[in-house]
Amino acid sequence: MATKPIVLYGDPVLREKSEPIEKIDSEIKNLVADMIATLRKAEGLGLAANQVGVAKRVFIIETSMIDGSDEMLVCINPEITETSGEVEYEEGCLSFPGIFERVTRPAEAVLRATDLDGIKFERRADGLFARALLHELDHLNGKLFIDHLSSLSRQLISKKLKKLRSEAA
Ligand SMILES: [Zn+2]
Repeated sequence: MATKPIVLYGDPVLREKSEPIEKIDSEIKNLVADMIATLRKAEGLGLAANQVGVAKRVFIIETSMIDGSDEMLVCINPEITETSGEVEYEEGCLSFPGIFERVTRPAEAVLRATDLDGIKFERRADGLFARALLHELDHLNGKLFIDHLSSLSRQLISKKLKKLRSEAA
């Protein structure tokens, strides 16, 4: 288990559509262990595999930051099967240090995924939990939270984005 550098905005891997995971082998287990170490060190809420440079369909959520439960939720080949409502809330991303913007997303979401033991599960989420699931699923599709902003909001942070891109290059 080792921490990995978190990929910053500007790295092309963040724009890749991640590949499904066919088999939960030792390579995937090691990847997830490294992601957990990385997320805990960064004290973040969620992390997708491509944020550590691996374009595979897995993300993790530190649920203790949501409801105080001590669970690291591992979501392999996740899908959102249902969403409802709409809510605007401030959002950030470990690949965009120092940038926080209000983003509108569904208020509730239903997730289907596979855990590290290969068992399929379903979770109904609202509030910050739903937001985290939707944010991380976006990552696996090469989509970033800034894509949800209005062109005006993006313009207002364009200098910060440019600076990040130059650091990532
Ligand atoms: Zn993110």
